[in-house]
Amino acid sequence: MSDLEKQDLKNKKVIVRVDLNVPLDDTDNVTDTTRIVACKETVNLILEKGGTCILISHLGRPKGKENKFSLKKIVDTVSSVFNQPVFFYEDCIGQGAQEAISKLDQGSIILMENLRFYQEETLGDRVFAKNLSELGDIYVNDAFGTCHREHASTVVITEYFENKKFAGKLLQKELEAINQISNNGKKPVLAILGGAKVSSKLSILYNLIKNVDKIIIGGGMAYTFIKAKGGQIGNSLVEDELITNAQEILMLAKKLDKKIILPVDIKASKDFDNNNQISTFNSKEIDDGWMGLDIGEKSIEIFHQEILTSNTIFWNGPMGVFEKELFSEGTSSICNSLKEAKEKGVNVIVGGGDSIAALKKLGKEEWVGYISTGGGALLESLEGKTLPGVKALM
Ligand code: AMP
Repeated sequence: MSDLEKQDLKNKKVIVRVDLNVPLDDTDNVTDTTRIVACKETVNLILEKGGTCILISHLGRPKGKENKFSLKKIVDTVSSVFNQPVFFYEDCIGQGAQEAISKLDQGSIILMENLRFYQEETLGDRVFAKNLSELGDIYVNDAFGTCHREHASTVVITEYFENKKFAGKLLQKELEAINQISNNGKKPVLAILGGAKVSSKLSILYNLIKNVDKIIIGGGMAYTFIKAKGGQIGNSLVEDELITNAQEILMLAKKLDKKIILPVDIKASKDFDNNNQISTFNSKEIDDGWMGLDIGEKSIEIFHQEILTSNTIFWNGPMGVFEKELFSEGTSSICNSLKEAKEKGVNVIVGGGDSIAALKKLGKEEWVGYISTGGGALLESLEGKTLPGVKALM
């Protein structure tokens, strides 16, 4: 992939595909600016090199031109994050859009209207992609979160920018983080997977077991594995149809001399909403009627030791039902152990929706190593796939 840093961008109009799909509250305030902040480095680089930034993005899933999803709503926030005025144009293609861009001074930023106001965007329509390409001279993709989609603005548009298509700084960072987990990370490499279901992470498990040295499995996912090893899991969450897969993964780990670490004790409840009914069990001997909802003290200590004896760590998914305070200790402890590891120089990468939600809820967001901005895109990359948006830049 060619390097954006080395390009001459002076007086160039640079189309930057960004992911400004930010959350808005009922009164249209942006409630989380992470995605805007994330593309700032690329925008600054382009401006420093004398270019003009034409930002293209989607917001939500509009059905046609729905004002509710207009990117105009976020222009002020984008301006304040970028610390300079950001212009807005009410369309993302066409003569009017091109004229608005041609009037800009060098060093300006303009945000174009929601790409998904045209269904052609998600359909990967060639004519639409060509129209988009006519907005500028150079194409930069910095929207890691949408690189797993074969859309007009992420894939098809690149056909019109032979030798003039680049990865933005955020996309480069995300790809490097994935590379650290899957190929190049300093060993031992540890993956910590949690969350509700094995099914959503099965392909990742098959891929990661080949690439990392050890995998901790916690959260609801763990019980399918514990059952696959012959444990009694009471009424805990289980995917019986995946027991064979779990056994296969455990065997594969043995064959490849990789370690799979499961909780040895768990905190369980009889009734999800009844706080009085809590007990700790050996994870292989959970009584009928009891549901494992968090990892226990011994598991916390074992996981802590594994974390502190690793050099590269990827974390995805909570260790328990962290939304409820009573079952948040496991996830919270993992966060603390990761903090300690990071302070010792360990490369910590966190990704996937609920781990970030957990960090935020537990107030531990500040310290983390690298937080990926991609949900689906990150998970697909960790399944070993090259994302269409990334392939298109090669
Ligand atoms: P995921 O989206 O797959 O990462 O799953 C996140 C969800 O898994 C969170 O809402 C957690 O409450 C839930 N979860 C974690 N541990 C358990 C468990 N032991 N039993 C049921 N749900 C769990």
